[in-house]
This record gives sequence, structure tokens and C-alpha cells, in this order.
Amino acid sequence: MRKGYYVFVPVLLLAVACGTAKRKVLQQPNTSVVLADSAKRIIDDVALPDLAEAVAESQAEAIPPMMTTEDRVQVLMRNGINKQADWTEAIHYDIRKPNFVIIHHTAQHSISQTIRTFQLEHTKVSAHYVIGKDGRVVQMLNDYLRSWHAGRSKWGNVTDMNSISLGIELDNNGREPFPDLQINALINLLDTLKTKYQIPFTNFIGHADIAPTRKDDPSVFFPWKRLAERGFGVWYDESNLLPAPEQFNYVDALRIIGYDVTNIRAAVIAFKRKFIVTDVSENLTDFDRRVLYNLYRRYF
Ligand SMILES: [Zn+2]
Repeated sequence: MRKGYYVFVPVLLLAVACGTAKRKVLQQPNTSVVLADSAKRIIDDVALPDLAEAVAESQAEAIPPMMTTEDRVQVLMRNGINKQADWTEAIHYDIRKPNFVIIHHTAQHSISQTIRTFQLEHTKVSAHYVIGKDGRVVQMLNDYLRSWHAGRSKWGNVTDMNSISLGIELDNNGREPFPDLQINALINLLDTLKTKYQIPFTNFIGHADIAPTRKDDPSVFFPWKRLAERGFGVWYDESNLLPAPEQFNYVDALRIIGYDVTNIRAAVIAFKRKFIVTDVSENLTDFDRRVLYNLYRRYF
């Protein structure tokens, strides 16, 4: 048996199995949640190699297969499915490669309510992953697809954050702490995504960072410091908070970090919600300026 055939045949079979509609080819055509260690594994790991072997044998002496561009896309799309997460399908998306991760809280009452929201035609919203309070991770879109989670937003000079990011929704009403089980599941997921797509650690940010006038998620309860210690996002050096120089321009610093400073009041509040936590007023105290100066000098 020649090695090369194993690569080709699953691709061929996938294309046949998934039908003709583009979305059905790229997504798995189901609407209910599929448990990660049951149905999806059977499709990916068990059924295909057996069939692949039979077909490969019959083609053993055939001309070596050529992959079309569409075949290559199919291989790419298969890699965008996370086998550690459960699966259910969102319906609103485009296609691209991710380079940012945007973290949200759902502001809803349960993970099932959120999943339903992302499966209703009229809502026009979606996310790649939803994580429950118990740490359950449900994937709803292939990582390579552009979901509709960021809305009108800006970070640096990028105004289409959906095109470059993955959206992760944490089941949380915005007024409660995030349980350890949920944060541990998030960190595990971020680890996988960071490695897989080589996402820079500075590119793990919150929805409020990119839409400060419209959004406040994730809330002050979200443990940004803990995430930064694990390599996702930034945090200031608490042991070395030097005073900001007299001429320090905090608007420029916020802009360089990435904030849209068109509404400077909203940008300051978003910054303080994340890094100061105990005070989210629009005024920058001496301490706040030290924190901002430290972050700016440390990372940007
Ligand atoms: Zn959000």
C-alpha cells in the first residue's frame, strides 16, 4: 500500500458525503449538539480509514491522485474542527484564517439559550465557541470561518475584527464571577488555538476592548491577570510601577495599545474595567496612569 493514498481518499469521501451546498460542505450538517467523544469521532476517525483502505487498495496501481484547490480547502476545513469540544452548528459566517481571539460573556441565562440565539436566522450573530459554567466547550463554527461576533468594532487600524478573529462566548450574565471550571476550560482551548494558529499573546482581548462605546464584556469579574500569566493577553508589572513622566500622553498610549480613542471616555473606562477593576470611572488617577505607562513600556 502506498502511503500517499491515505491523504487523498478521506478528502474524496468527505466531498461526496457532504453534498453540494457550499455551507454544508464546510460545516457539519446537523443542528443539535453532538458530543465530542461520540458521533464526531466515529465520522472522523473510524469510518473514513476503513473505507479509505478499501478504495486505496483498488487504486493501488492508478495514477497518483492530484488534489484540486477545493480538495485542499476541504483538508483545511477539517483541521478547523476541535475534537475536544462538542459540536453544534451556527449559521452565519464567512471564510478566513484567525489571528485574534475575542472573549465575550453572553449576558444570557444559560448555554442552551445562547446556542439557540446563534441558530436563529434573524439574530445575525454567532461565535466559534460557547463555554458553559461547568467547563463544557461547544464549538459552533469551524475556526477558518468568519463568525459574526464582534459587530461594529476597531482595534488598531483594523475595523473588521470578525475577519481576523475567533469569538469565544462564556455563559455568564455579566454580574457574576466566572467559575474555575469555566476558566480552566477556556485556558485549555486558548492553548490549542494559540499553538495551532500561532496567535500572538497580545492578540487575546475582550469585546469591550474593540467596541468600548457599545460593549462591556467580559465584565470586571473576568480574570485577565490569570490569563496573562498563562500567556494570553497582557498585564502590568505590579512590582515595578514607576510614575508616568509629566509629558506622558495617555491618549496616544491607549491608541498604540489598540484602543479606538474617538470616544476617549469610553476607551478609558474599557481600559480601567480590564486593568484597574475596582474603579471604572472615566478619570485616570495617578495609579491608573502608572499602570497604563507600565503596559505601554512593557509591550508596545
Ligand atoms: Zn460580546
